[in-house]
Amino acid sequence: MKSFTINEPINIDGIGLHTGVKTNVILNPAPLNSGIFFNRIDKTTIIPAKWDNVISTKFSTNIASNGVEVKTVEHLLSALAGLHINNCEILIDNVEVPILDGSSNVFVERILEKGIKEQGSEQKILEIVKPVKFSCDYGYAELAPNSPKDEGLNINLESSFEGKYEDQDIKIKNLNGNYIESISKARTFGFFQEIEYLKSQNLIKGGSLDNAIVIKDKKPLNKDGLRYDNELMRHKVLDVVGDLYLSGYPIIGTYKGFKTGHFITNNLLKELFKSKENYKIHKIN
Ligand SMILES: [Zn+2]
Repeated sequence: MKSFTINEPINIDGIGLHTGVKTNVILNPAPLNSGIFFNRIDKTTIIPAKWDNVISTKFSTNIASNGVEVKTVEHLLSALAGLHINNCEILIDNVEVPILDGSSNVFVERILEKGIKEQGSEQKILEIVKPVKFSCDYGYAELAPNSPKDEGLNINLESSFEGKYEDQDIKIKNLNGNYIESISKARTFGFFQEIEYLKSQNLIKGGSLDNAIVIKDKKPLNKDGLRYDNELMRHKVLDVVGDLYLSGYPIIGTYKGFKTGHFITNNLLKELFKSKENYKIHKIN
């Protein structure tokens, strides 16, 4: 697979889900081997989108460099991963990436509108060669080598929701080519009974039914309902794709998990990078 950046700068405004701050983001084309990195222009600080820059994972994935933070990076990274873009500068003038409609689809659409540019050489991919697992008291995730019939990144999540949303185990085979239609439109979500708690933690200040699904008594409060029956599980896949992209590479392997979230996926990457025997970095055609 070739390296890709975007054709021209893309300007996107919006508010942050947790901070409520208004932010302007400009996606800029970047040369070969730049990777994905944020540039907090109000603080003149570059923050590479890497797993070891993650500083907190409570209800969003937040990265920092030299004490300068960018919050809620996961949906934008998910869009870039889904579109195979591996070189991009993200100029940002405030602390949190805009939540937009709660999915990654606005990023995807805006990027496709301007176009993706193929670059001169193949991008490196990370292939899982030995299984790694991270478990905590409520859930787990693992990355394992693909079975011989599988290609690309495969994601299998066991449903962890009660009532109407149980039995929605999801299996996404070879995410390449499936991302835009199956995953990018799935919005972030919350349960009504958690809202007071999140507010008490100074979170979701920018949250509304315009940028999140809210489930009360097993039904969405959003007047147009859900975009897919299993939109919640699809959003969990969207988050996994974004959080895994902090590895710095597209991953070839199979991710399995239960009650996965930003904390579990980031710790899984820490496990992965503990030993070079767990993976192989190479180029594929
Ligand atoms: Zn999310």
